[in-house]
Amino acid sequence: MQKHSTVEVLGCSGSIGIPGQGTTSFLIDSDILIDAGTGLCELDFARLEQIEHVLITHSHLDHICGLPFLIDTVGVGRKRPLRVYATLPTIRALQQHIFNEEIWPDFSKIPTAENPVLEYVEIQPEQELLFGERRITTVEVDHTVPAVGVFLITPTGGWCFSGDTHQTDRLFTLINQAKKGRLFLYRGCFS
Ligand SMILES: [Zn+2]
Repeated sequence: MQKHSTVEVLGCSGSIGIPGQGTTSFLIDSDILIDAGTGLCELDFARLEQIEHVLITHSHLDHICGLPFLIDTVGVGRKRPLRVYATLPTIRALQQHIFNEEIWPDFSKIPTAENPVLEYVEIQPEQELLFGERRITTVEVDHTVPAVGVFLITPTGGWCFSGDTHQTDRLFTLINQAKKGRLFLYRGCFS
């Protein structure tokens, strides 16, 4: 029997203030994180350690603010880099405004640039990423900064997170195509 993937909503709020309702972060199975908002900070160390891949939809703080703490917490014990997937504008924003040696260390050079604990992986919208039998693709969506929505397709079903967008025709086209299979839709907040 085929194993189902799980999508755990760690946070989907636009702000903090209600216990258990942090900002945007989803955990696919135990190893793939979609966005790294404050919801991520609900996980204990053992579960943080299992995360191998982090896909960031865009640079807004409510989607990234857990990432500096994640890498600071699990970085030392890692045998291979934590891989952070994002489009180039988002990677540049992380490098320039967060991991810039002023706000937080540049973990892509720690302990060395050749063997770091954090590795950026630039993605192109609609490029397919393969994680075993799990396929993840992104689609460019309209937002105030460069941003993507996310599709997860597995042998037993699919899931879509629109990211922060109000209206993106291409997203809806792809959703309608994917609905021929089983697809669960998740619409994010607009911050
Ligand atoms: Zn946003």
